[in-house]
Order: sequence, then structure tokens, then C-alpha cells
Amino acid sequence: MFKRFQWILILQVLLLALLVSCNGTIEEEEKLKVMATTPLLQDWVNNVAKGRVSVESIIPYGADPHSYQPGAQDVSRIVSADTIFSVGLGYEEQWLAKLLESNSDLTNTPLGESVSPIKMSGGHDGHDHGDSGLDPHFWFDPTRVAMAVDAIANHLSEIDPVSQDYYQSNASAYKAQLMDLNNQIKDEISAIPKQNRVIITGHDSLGYLEGQYGIESLQPIVSSVSSETGLSPDDLIKAVKFIEKHNVKVIFLESTQSDKYAKTVANETGINVASGLNVETLDDANGTYIDFMKDNIGVIVSNLSYAGHGTEHDVPHEGHDEHEEHDEHEGHDEHDEHEEHDEHKEHDEHDEHDEHDEHDEHDEHDEQES
Ligand SMILES: [Zn+2]
Repeated sequence: MFKRFQWILILQVLLLALLVSCNGTIEEEEKLKVMATTPLLQDWVNNVAKGRVSVESIIPYGADPHSYQPGAQDVSRIVSADTIFSVGLGYEEQWLAKLLESNSDLTNTPLGESVSPIKMSGGHDGHDHGDSGLDPHFWFDPTRVAMAVDAIANHLSEIDPVSQDYYQSNASAYKAQLMDLNNQIKDEISAIPKQNRVIITGHDSLGYLEGQYGIESLQPIVSSVSSETGLSPDDLIKAVKFIEKHNVKVIFLESTQSDKYAKTVANETGINVASGLNVETLDDANGTYIDFMKDNIGVIVSNLSYAGHGTEHDVPHEGHDEHEEHDEHEGHDEHDEHEEHDEHKEHDEHDEHDEHDEHDEHDEHDEQES
């Protein structure tokens, strides 16, 4: 009699455990504690774990990862974590390596190593992210983010095998969204006249757009726009020559950078300065990686689509103003725009071919690298 009672009890406990794992509700204190180095990574982990782990970003929302140094509180948060996801490829500079050295039982998954990274496009010395020679900003290619998402799902499955199916199916659903995003970006960028698909920013950060979408990403005009030393007359002459040679129409400012030098260069050459690019991080907890990409691509497309249409002596202005300006001459511009579309369509096949050739070169490099 007693035995049967025991069995019923055991069954009840099992049933309860099953219920908990089915609806995904796990008590907060029982959850795995995951740290991501930046808010973008935190969003990816959230999309895979969907509440089953607790995840925090080490670098706060809106903070510039280039200049981040962890404080004492961060260190205690990090060392009490069950696992860490980082960008890798030198992105976190020395601080993460030092932390891991002194806490050898902390596991770290550098996602950048799983995404077949490209080389830094500029090739200049002293770029802002370590010295790996590889470009850590792989989030500008959602298909590479999908690879990072796989790496996240695989690692979570390893340390929490009971939830493997849950992580893997969430990852699949999120990867489908990433592929949609990729297609949307392709469409938007292919609508930019081909001769305008040139981009220049404050630091090497948009190289992945070149390989994936055929937007040429030039090295920064001034090797470090935010440098303390300022813009020398030599720098300025170089910048002006570079802009003329490459037919650059717009300099894109990043939200974490000072616009002083870019504006000086723009004034000297009559090109436009566009603000609103946010290349590194999410500003607040409401932000998602997918929205971050849509916003950035919106800034790029709206500025490059009309680049070069204004007069040479336009006062530098921001992206959104351009639309207004064009609205004034609506009839004419609409016409131009159509022409460009048609032109583009005619050449599409050819263009795509060109872009593939560029790809091939990059891919070769990649293979050598890995
Ligand atoms: Zn950067």
C-alpha cells in the first residue's frame, strides 16, 4: 500500500517537472545566468533563450564599446555568470581577456569566430578594435548573425541539454526573421543608383555591407576622426583629394563620434554630412537588432539614393532634410528616380555579376584567414 503511494508521489513530481519545462516558466533563481558583452548580443541570446535563461549585457545600452572599461561592479556580475557570449576578434580589447585569465572556470563563446569574418577593409594602422586584422562588426550582415545565433543555440544546448529542442526551435524561428531582413536590405540597397553605392564613415565598421550588398565601404578619410590631435592641414588636403578621387557624396557620422572633423571636410568639399548611423549598439532596452539594422539601412538608403542631386554648394545637412528638399522639386525628381530605377534594372544582371566578382576576392581572403 505504502509503495503505491510512493509511486503516485513520484509521478506527481515528474508531471510537475514536465509542466514547468513545457510552458517555459522557470523560477528566476534557477535560471542560467548568461552575460553578453553588448546589447546586440543580449538581444540575440534573448531570441534563442526566450525567457529560459537570464541574460544581461556587460556594456550598458548606449555606451560606446570602443572606450568601455568594466568597473568593480561589472566584474562581480561577470564572474558570477554561468557563461559569456562575446563578439571576439579583438572587439572587447584586453579587458575581457584579463577577466577570463583570472577566472579560469568562466566559459566564453566569441561569436565572431563562428561567422567567417572578413578582413578590416581600410587596412590602416591603429583601428579601433584590437589588432586581429579581422572586422568584428559582422552584424551588418544578418546572414552572419544567423551563424552567431546557431553558435548561441549550440552552446546553450550544451550547458542546458534538457532545453535543447526549445533553443534550437527558437533559433530557427529567429533565423527566418534574419533571412527576411537580409532580403529586405538587398531590395532597398539595389534601389540605390549603382554609382552612389559608396559609403564612408568615421571608423572601419561597414565592411560587411560591401561583401553582402555591394555597397563599397571606403576607409575613413581621417584615420581617427575622434582623435585628440585634431585635423592637420595635411589631413585635410588628403581628405579632399580622396573624396574627389572616389566621387564620395556623403560622409556618414556615427552616433558615438564627434562630427567636428567630418564637417570641416564636408565644408571644404561641398559633400553632405549625414547623421543617424548607429553602428555599434542599442540605445535602450526597447531596441532590437532587427530595428537597429532597419534604421541604419534607412539612413544609408535615404542619403545615397539622392546623393549628388543637390548643388555642389549645399550647406551640409542631415539625411532627413534631403527628403524635404526634394519634395520641393517633386515632379522632376520623381522622373529622375524612375530613370535610375529603370537603368538599374537593365543592368541588374551585369551589376550582380560584378558584385559577385568582388565577393570572390573577399571569399578567397576569408578562406586563407580561417
Ligand atoms: Zn567599431
